[in-house]
Amino acid sequence: MLQDRDQRIDAVLAGARAAGRLAVDLLLPPRCLACGDLVAEASSVCAECWSGLDFITKPYCASCGYPFEYEVGEAAVCAGCEASPPRFDRARAAMRYNEASKPLLLRFKHADKAELAPVLVRFMARAGGELLAGADLVAPVPLHRWRLLRRRYNQSALLAKQLAAEAGRPFLPDLLTRRRNTPPQGQLGREGRTRNVAGAFAVAPHHRDDVAGRRVLLVDDVMTSGATANACAAVLKRSGAEQVFLLTAARVVLA
Ligand SMILES: [Zn+2]
Ligand SMILES: [Zn+2]
Repeated sequence: MLQDRDQRIDAVLAGARAAGRLAVDLLLPPRCLACGDLVAEASSVCAECWSGLDFITKPYCASCGYPFEYEVGEAAVCAGCEASPPRFDRARAAMRYNEASKPLLLRFKHADKAELAPVLVRFMARAGGELLAGADLVAPVPLHRWRLLRRRYNQSALLAKQLAAEAGRPFLPDLLTRRRNTPPQGQLGREGRTRNVAGAFAVAPHHRDDVAGRRVLLVDDVMTSGATANACAAVLKRSGAEQVFLLTAARVVLA
C-alpha cells in the first residue's frame, strides 16, 4: 500500500517534470521582461516598456552608428568619428541605452539570460543585418577571466553565439582575450576609458591565422564610448583583419 502511494507520487512528479515548461507557464503567468508586470504572451515586454524602447534606425553615422536627427547622406559620419576615426569599420546597435532598455539589459546580465538572449538577438539581427551578411566570423568582446568567474557567464558570448548561428557564420568564443583586469569603466570619461583599455586585449595565439584577411564581427551587450571596441579592433587589425564590425544590443547616445 505504502509502496503504491510512493509510486503514485513518483508518477505525478514525473508527469509534472515532463510537462516542464508548460507547467511553469501555467503556474507563473508571463511577465514583462523589463518591468515585471503581467503580460499576455511569454518572452515579451509590456506595451508601456515597448513604447519606451528607442530602436536605432537610419539615418545614422556610417561609421559608428550614432543616430542623426536628419538625413545627411548615406556616407556621412558624426563629428566624433570625423575628429578621431575609430579603428573599427562599422558599429551598429539595436536600441538606445535608456530608461526602458536599461532594465532589459540588467536582467539579461544578471538574471534571465536564456529567456532574454533570443529577444535581444532578434533586435540585433534586424539592426545589424548588413554586418552579419558581411562578416566572415563572429566573436564576443571578452570579459576578464576573473570577472567571467564571478559572473560565471560572458553575456556577450551568448549573444554572439546565437547571432553566428542565425547568420551561419563561425563562432569563435575565445578569439580575443583580456590581458589584464581593467577596472570597470563606469566612472571614467572618454579619455579615461581609452587609456583604461589600451593594451587590454590580445588575439588568442591559436586564432592568429583565423584573422588575417577576414572580416570580424564583434558582439557586445552595450557600447558606451566605443573605447573597448576600438581597442579590440586595433589588435584585430594588427593581426591582419580586413575589417572589424561591432554589433551591440544597445548604445549610449549622448545628446
Ligand atoms: Zn513592462
Ligand atoms: Zn560616428
